[in-house]
Amino acid sequence: MPELPEVETVRRGLLPVMEGKGIVQAQVNRRDLRFPLPERMAARLTGARVLGLRRRSKYILADLSTGETLLVHLGMSGRMLVSGVAQGAFYHHHPAPAKHDHVVLDMEGGARVTFNDARRFGAMDLFDTASGDAHRLLRDIGPEPLGNMFSEDYLVSRLAGRKTPIKAALLDQTLVAGLGNIYVSEILHRAGVDPRRAAGRLSARRAGSLVPVIRAVLAEAIEAGGSSLRDYRQADGELGYFQHAFRVYDREGAACLKPGCGGTVARVVQSGRSSFYCPRCQR
Ligand SMILES: [Zn+2]
Repeated sequence: MPELPEVETVRRGLLPVMEGKGIVQAQVNRRDLRFPLPERMAARLTGARVLGLRRRSKYILADLSTGETLLVHLGMSGRMLVSGVAQGAFYHHHPAPAKHDHVVLDMEGGARVTFNDARRFGAMDLFDTASGDAHRLLRDIGPEPLGNMFSEDYLVSRLAGRKTPIKAALLDQTLVAGLGNIYVSEILHRAGVDPRRAAGRLSARRAGSLVPVIRAVLAEAIEAGGSSLRDYRQADGELGYFQHAFRVYDREGAACLKPGCGGTVARVVQSGRSSFYCPRCQR
C-alpha cells in the first residue's frame, strides 16, 4: 500500500502534465470505487483547469478553476498512468484501455492521466475548495510530518501517558499524517526504539528525538522516489511504486544493518500486522 513518500512521488510525477493545465476531457467509467464517485463527475471535470496539485497525508488534491478540488486516494492498488506526452524521454503511446481504467483525464498539452485500480480500494471525490479540510476524509488527520506543526514538543505531549505501543501510536493518523506499516518500522529501527514499547514510557528526550528521524526517513524515501520517477518516465509512465531499499522492513532473519550492531532482524505481529525490528539495538 502506498505510504506518504509514494504518494508524494506520484504527485511530483503528475505536476508537469497537470498543474496549470486544462482538463480537455474527463471520462469516468464507473459509479464507484471504495465509495460512490461524485455525481456528474466527468462533466464537472471537463473544461476545468488544475490551478494547483497538493498533497495532504496520502491524498492528492487538485484545486480546480471551478472552485472544486479533486481528491485522489490510491488505496491498496491504485496507479496513475501518464501517457501521450511527446517531450524528450517522457513519451508513451496511449496504452489500449485496460479493464481497470476507471477514470481517464485528457489534459491540455496532450498527456493522458489514467487512474487504474484493480482492487478498487482507492477513492476519488470532488468538494468545494473553500470548505477545505472539513472533508470527512481530511478533517481528522493530524499534522504533516514534514510540516512545521509537527514539532518535538507536539510529539512529546501527544505520546505522554499513552499505553499503546509506540508503533500503534505512530500509525494513528490523528497524531501524525501519512505514516504506515513500512515506514514506521524503518523509523523505529533508525531511532533505536522497540516497536512494542509503550508510547508513554519513552523519555521526553527519546520521544522528541523521533521527530528528526521521521523527517529524515521520509525525506530520503521521497528522494529515492524522485530517482525512480526518472526511471519510470523512461519505462512505462506508471507512477507510484518503486523499489526502495528498506533497512529492516521485510528482512526477518537478515543481519541488522546498523553499523556495529551484529543483531538479527526479527518480526513480531502487532494488531494483526508485522513489525520488523532488531532486538539488539532497539530498546
Ligand atoms: Zn541492530
